[in-house]
Parts: sequence; structure tokens; C-alpha cells
Amino acid sequence: MTGDLIQRRGLMLVLSSPSGAGKSSISRQLLAHEDDLTLSVSATTRSRRPGEIDGKDYHFTDETSFQIGINKGEFLEYAKVFGNYYGTPRALVEEKLASGKDVLFDIDWQGTQQLADLMPEDLVKVFILPPSVQELEKRLLSRAQDTAEVVAGRMAKAADEMSHYPEYDYIIVNHDLEKSVSQVEQILHAERLKRRRQIGLSDFVKQLRDQAQ
Ligand code: 5GP
Repeated sequence: MTGDLIQRRGLMLVLSSPSGAGKSSISRQLLAHEDDLTLSVSATTRSRRPGEIDGKDYHFTDETSFQIGINKGEFLEYAKVFGNYYGTPRALVEEKLASGKDVLFDIDWQGTQQLADLMPEDLVKVFILPPSVQELEKRLLSRAQDTAEVVAGRMAKAADEMSHYPEYDYIIVNHDLEKSVSQVEQILHAERLKRRRQIGLSDFVKQLRDQAQ
């Protein structure tokens, strides 16, 4: 056995933030840079925004189908956010982790709490904060995908969402997209080296020690 044969269990990287803090842009860049990272595409009952692709951004579904999914245990976690259901399909996550690949989650604090109860050892929780409320509002307005009423609702929710930052392992203030992406990458690379994620390590070290004596 050599060090090359040490296997790795994949990890679950959660990114949460209030809407408009830049989480989607960070996720996109991260996925483009990291070969071993796959996005968990959530199911949702909310309507599709212009430009969103079914199966890529979300699996768009209706409440009846979502409820059936819940009853069949198809979701690892689910929550109601802004009046719509959002849930993480279980199958992809289990398959990726077992094959040593990492999974990225763009989910809210409610989903993160459920995953933390279910799979605490696999979870790495990152919370993204906006540099200021002015910046948050500017980003929400410039998206121009939502109505003014929806934007106002999201601003009101932001304060509530931000109160959950202490439940996360890492906090990034998103002043600059490139820098924030690089910071998430540093977290990911360090977390991959955690002892508990490295399978076969004890056999490998035993062999090293036996041979050294
Ligand atoms: P949006 O409608 O802007 O795409 O997402 C609204 C919120 O729902 C975001 O905070 C996003 O992180 C969260 N969200 C998206 N997918 C899931 C999911 O599968 N589970 C949970 N708990 N939250 C989700």
C-alpha cells in the first residue's frame, strides 16, 4: 500500500446567506474551478424565473409531487422558504459522498440544521454575509428578476436569516467575488484533508511504521 491508495469520503459543503449576498455567483465559480465538486440541485415548488433551467437550477415541481416526494423519503431535508417548498434530493448526495466526491448545497439555515442533525461528520457549513445592507439591496434590485414586493420581502427576511450565522463553521463577508471564491476554496481544500475523511489512513500509517522499524 502507498499513500496514493488512501481513499477519501466526500464532504457536504453548505453555502447559506440572505438572498443577494452573492452566494449564487460564488457557487458558479466554485463549480467551474473544482472538478470533484457537484451541485445538489434542489426541488422547489416556486415558479421558474426568467433564464432558469429546469434540472440545472432547480427541479421545478408542484406541491402535490413535492408532498409525494416527502412521503417517500426522497428528500434529505426540506423547508418552506418565502411560502414555497425547497428540498434536497437524497440519491445524488449519497452516491457522490460514497465515491469520494464533494457536494455543494445552496440551502437556507433550516435545511442546514436538518443536515447537521443527520450527517454532522460530513457537513462543512459556510455563511456568506453582504458587506452592507445598502449593497444587499442594490444586488437584489439589480437582479431585476423579482417584483418590488418580492425584493421588499427578501430585505425584511435578510435580518432574520443573518441571525443564524453562529450556527455555521465559517463566515465570509463578500466584499469581493474573487476573494470570496478563493476563501471558500481554501476552506474546501483544508476540509478535504481532515483525518476522519481519509479512509485507509490507519493501515497506511501502520505500514509506514512497521517498515520504519
Ligand atoms: P431562491 O428562491 O432565491 O432560489 O432561494 C430562496 C432560498 O431557498 C435561498 O436561501 C436558498 O438557499 C434556499 N434553498 C434553495 N434550495 C433549498 C433546499 O433544497 N433546501 C432548503 N432548506 N433551502 C433551499
